[in-house]
Amino acid sequence: MNHWDYETDLLVVGSGGGGMTASLVGKLQGLDALILEKTEYFGGSTALSGGFVWVPDNYVMAEAGIPDSHEQAALYLETIIGDQVPKDKQEAYLHASKEMLSFLRERTRVIFQLTPGYTDYHPELPGGTQGGRGVEPVPVDGKKLGDEFKNLRASIFEAPMGLALTSKEYRQVGMLTSTLEGLLAGIKIGVRAAYCAAAGVKLLTLGQALAARLRLSLLDAQVPIWLSTPLDKLIVENGRVVGARATKGGQPINIKANSGVVLAAGGFPLNKEMREKYQQQPIGTEWTSASPGNTGDAIQMGQALGGALDLMNDAWWGPASLPPGSVPFFHVGERAYPGGIIVNSQGKRFMNESAPYVDAVKEIYRHNHEDSRTIPSHFIMDQRFRNKYLFGTLFPLVSIPQEYLDSGYFVKADTLGELAESIGVDVQGLQESIKRFNRFARNGTDQDFNRGDSAYDRYYGDPTVKPNPCLAPLNKPPFYSVKIYPGDIGTKGGLVTDEKARVLKEDGGIISGLYAVGNTSASVMGNSYPGPGGTIGPAMTFGYIAAKDMIASNNKQ
Ligand SMILES: Cc1cc2nc3c(=O)[nH]c(=O)nc-3n(C[C@H](O)[C@H](O)[C@H](O)COP(=O)(O)OP(=O)(O)OC[C@H]3O[C@@H](n4cnc5c(N)ncnc54)[C@H](O)[C@@H]3O)c2cc1C
Repeated sequence: MNHWDYETDLLVVGSGGGGMTASLVGKLQGLDALILEKTEYFGGSTALSGGFVWVPDNYVMAEAGIPDSHEQAALYLETIIGDQVPKDKQEAYLHASKEMLSFLRERTRVIFQLTPGYTDYHPELPGGTQGGRGVEPVPVDGKKLGDEFKNLRASIFEAPMGLALTSKEYRQVGMLTSTLEGLLAGIKIGVRAAYCAAAGVKLLTLGQALAARLRLSLLDAQVPIWLSTPLDKLIVENGRVVGARATKGGQPINIKANSGVVLAAGGFPLNKEMREKYQQQPIGTEWTSASPGNTGDAIQMGQALGGALDLMNDAWWGPASLPPGSVPFFHVGERAYPGGIIVNSQGKRFMNESAPYVDAVKEIYRHNHEDSRTIPSHFIMDQRFRNKYLFGTLFPLVSIPQEYLDSGYFVKADTLGELAESIGVDVQGLQESIKRFNRFARNGTDQDFNRGDSAYDRYYGDPTVKPNPCLAPLNKPPFYSVKIYPGDIGTKGGLVTDEKARVLKEDGGIISGLYAVGNTSASVMGNSYPGPGGTIGPAMTFGYIAAKDMIASNNKQ
């Protein structure tokens, strides 16, 4: 028999969106709960994220009068996922995600708001919508966390002067120099930052707000998070997972989990060996923007107990650049702003630059050949683009930091020919591509890749640029280039789970007492990405489902 040092009902491994939701729901429904977190901070990739959750037919949409239905959402999932993921699991997601969001709103401090017009990632496909399914957390004052604030995993790109932006504002500020709305948003944000500084408010938005709101709710419910306490081993008795061994304060500790263990420890983006074993080449750990603790430990521990794996070759891909002295920057809006293109080593475009980020990286891999490399590829922009739009954390009109130029992160040249030579790209190829692209921009139709056709492309486009908000000619020197890599915001393969988030063995049977959610589990979205929040939505939903299943099982006994 095992010796136990600590006893709880619901033991959760990992303090991201999936883990915090599971423990919160369990505790509020009568289970004792404890979270183990390997790193010294809580929040995981969830705290670094945009904080979006993709939840069809949610209360925010209903209140904003945006129509949606279970049937439309099911049709959309069927279209993008097909039979890659069992129907009952897709259905479970659709039912429970909506319920989860309302539960959190009624019982906790976790509340969401609309980001107007942020479309599904394939809005023109059957069942797709033009906005509302992806909702973002309502900003919150980090000071409310008190002492716990110092333990929140900090956003990698701390907003200068405390200028925290919501996603809606990020889009507006992207048009700072183009539209009145953008200018007014910039002024409003500046005034708010001044007010926050004077009033001592630490405004948190996006994933910071989501992690903080979840943690505040856990504090209310008195659920502890043990930081710097990694899970080392799952403990099995009579074929059932009954607890776990962890390391706390340098000492091993055996924790009994009467209702079960939820593995919510993220994926394996930071595990080089696993990435090389399972994923397409070239791959590594230097291009991911995910949280450093996500090294696949829990996936391996579940596998060691016979857990089946799926989707291990896939990730939540996102084109990234590598600013000096920083983690990778994951580019979203920049690819839609008009007047920037991405080319291969022959100087040729090879995709719709404004496509959803997962699709963009799939194209980067698909087109990477010895004689026409796309890894890295090159984001080319002109001075007009620099004068008008954000690039990474660089605001329009702000001079490029010397460090960026010295390190070669940004390459600048007076002519396209010089630029191409400096970055090792075919000169004629680049000149011809830009000539062709400029013609498309004038006509408003991208005859090669249909950029700007989809409502998703146009979300970040510039409405003042006609006839196509995603197309503008590159003709104002100097010209600039930044290397683009196949980055990601996490991996999406992991332990196979059923519609109740229970870990399944190869033969389809369950591993009793063991649940997996978020990026520790193989995604309910299969190889697809439905829209903003397509990873945290499922992480939180299956956390909710796992806790509910434990409660239901307890009631049966
Ligand atoms: C820049 C960026 C923007 C993003 N924007 C969005 C967005 O808006 N919407 C969206 O849906 N997704 C977004 N994502 C992706 C999303 O953040 C992740 O897919 C999601 O947060 C994963 O949640 P999780 O609960 O599975 O894991 P995480 O939030 O990563 O939490 C896992 C935790 O487990 C801990 N852990 C690992 N191993 C152990 C162990 N052995 N013992 C104990 N603890 C352990 C980790 O340290 C970590 O804290 C974004 C990601 C990034 C980086």
